[in-house]
Amino acid sequence: MSKRPDVKDYIRTIPDFPHEGIMFRDVTTLFADPRGFRMAIDQMLHPYAGMQIDKVLGLEARGFILGGAIAHQLGTGFVPIRKAGKLPGATLSQDYKLEYGEATVEIHEDAIQPGEKILVVDDLLATGGTAAAGIKLIERLGGEILSCSFIIDLPELGGGKVLEDMGMDVHVLCE
Ligand code: AMP
Repeated sequence: MSKRPDVKDYIRTIPDFPHEGIMFRDVTTLFADPRGFRMAIDQMLHPYAGMQIDKVLGLEARGFILGGAIAHQLGTGFVPIRKAGKLPGATLSQDYKLEYGEATVEIHEDAIQPGEKILVVDDLLATGGTAAAGIKLIERLGGEILSCSFIIDLPELGGGKVLEDMGMDVHVLCE
């Protein structure tokens, strides 16, 4: 008899990376495993069966890997949100707070048309700062965010509440 596998079984935890005290949840081991990767993509897609989605938006960098696979499966386009200075065309920028200091994310200003239905994807939700900045960029372009999907939520950091307070529908595979 074999136990039904869980995405958690494929995620590795590296203590004290990139700083002391951080438990880094490393999804590269999940991505590297053929069953693990397929299971994660299938489970992320599950809530959206039958729904109309126009574009999948991935947050740099692990959101690109998940978002590309999900967009291919849905038959939609994919749009990257990148750290400042990486996108070659005309961009919109959004600043957000980190634990120490600030960061900026950008989107191509012609990447989303007003009224398009968007699915936002990343590997992990912590404080929600990165996803909230991405959501603001999509809303500034007139996109309609259908849902946000993550593999992992760290509930003690409150990101789920931040996104729900913004009116977002949020799906996670594990905590
Ligand atoms: P936040 O903006 O605080 O929600 O942080 C989310 C972003 O930081 C995601 O793109 C994650 O990949 C990354 N991140 C934050 N904390 C961790 C962690 N403990 N392990 C792995 N990635 C993390």
